[in-house]
Amino acid sequence: MNAMQTDPDRERRRRWRKYHAEHERLANEWRELGYQHPPPVYPRLPRDLIGLTCGARTRAGTPCKLTAIYGSGRCKLHGGLSTGPTSAQGKARSASNGRAQKTKRTP
Ligand SMILES: [Zn+2]
Repeated sequence: MNAMQTDPDRERRRRWRKYHAEHERLANEWRELGYQHPPPVYPRLPRDLIGLTCGARTRAGTPCKLTAIYGSGRCKLHGGLSTGPTSAQGKARSASNGRAQKTKRTP
């Protein structure tokens, strides 16, 4: 079963996740400042991370070739499912879904 356990791009993917997290942190910082000018100086994407592919195993058994990858290091098709709300606030909001809300329904 776990024949393709080793990801040849594992090290590059790890560095991509790190790079993405840093980019995200700077962007969030900038948003909290109200998008003031000048924008933050983002770190440059290391040259060897350009063209990093998703690499997930497809149904055909071949590695996924998509290069449009998210912070997880995988593409839109292979990122996995959401693990649900994480904060206490989010869990409470999720738990209240489907119950009677304050807003009126349209008849
Ligand atoms: Zn993929």
